[in-house]
Order: sequence, then C-alpha cells, then structure tokens
Amino acid sequence: MTSTKTRFQHSYGQLGNFFSRVTQPTPVQAPQWIAFNQALADSLSLPEALQESETALLLYAGNLEDERWRDSDAANVIEPRALAYAGHQFGHFVPQLGDGRALLLTEVVPEDSPHKTFDIQLKGAGPTAFSRGGDGRSPLGPVLREYLVSEAMHHLGVPTTRALAAVASGEYVYRDSPLPGAILTRVASSHIRVGTFQFAAAHGGVEHVKKLADYTIKRHFPELLEGPSGGPRYLALLQQVMQRQAHLIAEWTRVGFVHGVMNTDNTSICGETIDYGPCAFLDTFINDKVFSSIDRNGRYRFSNQPRIAQWNLARLAETLLPLIDDKAPNSDERTVALLTDIIRDFPHVYAQKRDHSLARKFGIASIGDLDEHGKTDLLALMDEFYQATEADELDHTLAFSSLTQQADRAEGPFSELAKTTKNAAHWPLWRKRWLTLLNQAHAKQPFSVMAQANPRLIPRNHRVQQIIHQAEESGDLTEFFRCHRAWSNPYNYADLGDNKDLLLPPEPNEQVTRTFCGT
Ligand code: AMP
Ligand code: MG
Repeated sequence: MTSTKTRFQHSYGQLGNFFSRVTQPTPVQAPQWIAFNQALADSLSLPEALQESETALLLYAGNLEDERWRDSDAANVIEPRALAYAGHQFGHFVPQLGDGRALLLTEVVPEDSPHKTFDIQLKGAGPTAFSRGGDGRSPLGPVLREYLVSEAMHHLGVPTTRALAAVASGEYVYRDSPLPGAILTRVASSHIRVGTFQFAAAHGGVEHVKKLADYTIKRHFPELLEGPSGGPRYLALLQQVMQRQAHLIAEWTRVGFVHGVMNTDNTSICGETIDYGPCAFLDTFINDKVFSSIDRNGRYRFSNQPRIAQWNLARLAETLLPLIDDKAPNSDERTVALLTDIIRDFPHVYAQKRDHSLARKFGIASIGDLDEHGKTDLLALMDEFYQATEADELDHTLAFSSLTQQADRAEGPFSELAKTTKNAAHWPLWRKRWLTLLNQAHAKQPFSVMAQANPRLIPRNHRVQQIIHQAEESGDLTEFFRCHRAWSNPYNYADLGDNKDLLLPPEPNEQVTRTFCGT
C-alpha cells in the first residue's frame, strides 16, 4: 500500500489457531456511513484506503467480497479473525466465549508511534465459531452508545478503547422487536482479556499460557524483557496488570463511571475500559448505585468496582501459577503465596491511585506534596464531601464542577447548589476548612487543577438514551453529532453557549434507572 509508513501486521494470528480463527464477515445489504472518526484515523496515520470513502465503507461494513473492496490496494492488509476467550460472568465460569460478533481486521503500527500496536476490530459483522447461537449482529443503539461513550471517556482522560467508524447495515436485527442494525469499528491497544488467559489455561496448558504471557509482555510491557526471565517476569506481569487496573478503576471513580458488567472477559489486560454495554454515569451521587438490569445483586455497583477488579486479577493470577511454580518440593505453596501477595496489595495500590485522582478534584495537584497532617485533613474533607453529596442527593458532576468554580473565589456563598440542599448549614463550614487547607498547602492554581479533574460535560445517561431513541425512530443524528462534539471537550469551563443544556441533570421523568446490555 502506498502513502504512509504505517505498518500492518497480524501478530495475534501468528500465535496460532488455538487463540483465533480466520473468519470472514457476513456482508450486509445496504451499508451507509453514520460516523467516521477523522481525528482518530489521523492519530493512527491510516492510509487513504482506510479513510472515509466509498471503498472504506465496504470494509467497515464487512462487505469484503464486494469487488470494489477486493480490488482496493488495502485489501491485502486485512485478515479477519475471531478471537477465543473464556470468562467469569457474574462469578460463574464460562469456559468458551470468544468473539461471537466481533472480528479483528488487522493490527496497525502507526508511523509516528512505532512502539505501539493497535487492533482494528469490527463489532456486529456476523456470526463466528464463537457465536453460541447468537446472530453476530448489533442493533444501532449499542453502536451509537459505544461510539459516544468510549470517545467521551477518551476525552475525559480515562484509558479506553476507541471508536473509528459506525456504519448502518441497511438490515434489521431481531431482538424483542426488529431494530435497525449497525456495525462499529473499534480500536484497542489489544483485545487480550483476563478471559483470554483463562481460555489458555482451561483448554491448552502451560505452553499456551506461556505463549500468551510472553506475547502480552512483548506487546504491552516490553520493559519487563530487560528484567529477570522465568517466574519473576510473570510475577512482574501480574503486578503491571494490577497497577493498570488500579489506575483504571481510580479513574472511573473520579468521573463517576459504572461499567455495569465487569466480567473477566470484559477486563482488558492493558487496562483500557472495554465493552460499553449497560454502562452509565452517576447523576445523583449514590455510592452503591446499580444501573444494569441483569445485575440483580449489585455485584458491579459503583462502590464495588475496586473489589471486583481485585477478584478478576485473582482469576488472572490462577492462570499464571504454573509459569511460576518451579516444581521443587513445596514450591506450590510458595508460588501461591507470591501471587497472593500481589493480589492482596491491590486495595493499597488502588487507594493510593484513587487518593491521587480524587485530590485533584479538590485542587491538590499531587497528594504526595502534602505533609502527613495535610493529608489527613484532605482525606477527611474528601470523605465528608462525598458523604454530604450523597446525603443531599446532589448531582455528582454538578457538585464537583460547582466546587471547581468556587476555587478562586475568596468570598461568597458556597454555591447555588449547596444553598438549596437539605443540609445547607454544613457546607459553609466545610468550605472554610477546605479553603484553609488549600492555603496551608500552598496549593498552586487550584482552579486549573480542578478544572482538569472535574468534568463539566459527561455523556449523561438520559442524553445517550434520547439520542438513540431519536436515531431509531427517525434516523435523525443531529443530537448525536452535537453531543459528540460537546463531549469531546469535557473540561470546558468557558461559556457553553448553545450547549448549556448539556450541563443539566435529568428531570425526574428523564432519569435512566435501568440499563440493558442491548446485544
Ligand atoms: P458482551 O456482553 O458484549 O461482553 O458479550 C458476551 C459474549 O456474548 C461475548 O462472547 C460476545 O461475543 C457474545 N455475544 C454478544 N452478543 C452477541 C451476538 N449478537 N451474537 C453472537 N454473540 C454475541
Ligand atoms: Mg464482552
């Protein structure tokens, strides 16, 4: 292919048919563009042939048999594969899952970041060997949701997969009723999941787990290749994955994100948010908030996400056991102890990362710069703020953005928001203590620290739902594009003009109380 020096490869395919199967997408009748993410395409230095065009539309629709695509000079870089994985779903092990409606098209190594590899994947491109009776398709709604929310998460600064393209299939998919179908093109740093390791352990053996672990290290943690090999290297791998998960969940906590289905097959090894099914953002702050209709026991509630991440990491650790065990007498016990120590460390590592993320929400750029006394004060203030926000039933995003707007004001009421709350008397005192702490800590430019940690614009659930409804009913995407643009600049503290309405929490009748996988 001409033009860029961007490379295409199939390194995952080279791991062999145990891990993935070459699978052709099923063509669709009448593909039409919904959206193409030009900024992402540019950041990947995608060549002309993969940019928004009639020919690329055929690719992103999965119509690879169409001769206009077959004749394209990009056709030879595509080798679609369905990836195998297993996973614990709501705590129950399912040994065989895999890409039931997704296909990895190719891996791209962009011209200007030659040390990074990205997967380009179609989602909704027809059945595969792993479809388990499913149709391999996706309705329009979930495609629009993933496009909007994953891109918003990226601009919020949260590690995530991204959306390159959305294409309407011109066909219906049948769920409870016929729904318009669509296909999403997703970009991820990889699609290796905790469930991929579980698949290797369950169906292969030590050699398969080792192959996958070595591949993962090379792709995501190449610095480990410079350290010791063998058992210590795989322990270091677990540690690195643990660090990434801790960072990810701390970031979800910062922005009030509830993933909704943190199964081990939806837990990416490289620490990106993956699979936007029944996900939602907190509006009213409720620490134990559950949205997903299928999460009946609240396993994946907002407050439980760190514990679940730790549980998922323990499942990963189990698969690594044979790579660390040196078969010496009693080494089994020693190995288990080594792995357990790492998993046990998670709450501590998470708390550190969370405190760092949350301190920024309160104007402290680095919690490490506080003395012990200041740190204790800050933690107490943060705790009280969250408790009062919950007791007063405040909107999470509004509470923090109005706090941000208070940061550079010496005098004045706490905020319009706090004045109207049930426990209004509490707030002025809290605010006084907070401003004293900022002074004592010599906090530099607290407003600008807070304005980069407290988003004003998030993809509010009711907006996403309204956008999907509108698109399904009339095909009107005006709101989709308006919101997509506004949510690409979530820390915008300037006058929002015509987008002011996007600040508002839902009216009682607009509130989304239940979310659905919508597969
Ligand atoms: P998810 O809930 O999207 O994480 O999917 C869980 C599993 O179900 C994965 O193995 C998916 O590939 C599979 N799956 C979800 N929807 C479909 C579908 N429409 N057809 C086939 N497989 C599906
Ligand atoms: Mg999934």
